[in-house]
Amino acid sequence: MYKRVLLKLSGEALAAGKGFGIDAVFIHKIAAEIAAVHAAGCEIAIVVGGGNFFRGVAQQAIDMDRVAADHMGMLSTVINAIALQDAIEKLGLFCRVMSAIEMHQVAEPYIRRRAMRHLEKRRIVIFAAGTGNPYFSTDTAASLRAMEIKADVLLKATSVDGIYSADPKLDPTATKYEEISYMDILKLNLRVMDQTAVSLLKDNNLPSIVFSMKVPGNIVRVVNGEKLGSLIIP
Ligand code: UDP
Repeated sequence: MYKRVLLKLSGEALAAGKGFGIDAVFIHKIAAEIAAVHAAGCEIAIVVGGGNFFRGVAQQAIDMDRVAADHMGMLSTVINAIALQDAIEKLGLFCRVMSAIEMHQVAEPYIRRRAMRHLEKRRIVIFAAGTGNPYFSTDTAASLRAMEIKADVLLKATSVDGIYSADPKLDPTATKYEEISYMDILKLNLRVMDQTAVSLLKDNNLPSIVFSMKVPGNIVRVVNGEKLGSLIIP
């Protein structure tokens, strides 16, 4: 079993198929899974996306300055982080949101040593506001934070059950990779994570697992070492 994991949840995941906003029922289900992983003794840090509210590169931002749009995207991740913190606290667990953009009334600022301390003290940590910089993604933030906190693995929970040779929703002949290297993801131009995130993970030898969060209990299974989704090896 993994001792310390970084779980990346996309904003879309929190919308649970509704496309926008937060599904009030689903967020409690995710919180319960996180609590189960925590109860099993695993230290867990989370990076949340923001695509369920706003994306810097989305159609709705087409006439906007990219930096302004990315600021909006990063603030969306803070909304998700607070919602998830609330759901986790409802289960009686201790949870801290740490934001890469300072907003003291809402969240702690991200300080790496403090994040490590929270984890050692068995608190769940949610990293909000991505990397704090425009032109990046929350996948890159997840890769960066996973390395900073020395996580054993990056777990990317998505709506698809792994990495496919093509989009399985569009191409019925698409095949799933049980295992693949970061280099092959780059070479084959597979759109599982952005290339910055992939390069960072590759250069720093951090494995990741891409799996579906649609199946209840999957987060617990993957942390327990069950073979799920696709394993990406450095
Ligand atoms: N974002 C950013 N810098 C970061 C992380 C995120 O500017 O370090 C912005 C960017 O506009 C992005 C949005 O926040 O589109 C939401 O993040 P993302 O698209 O990664 O969320 P997800 O797809 O995981 O829901």
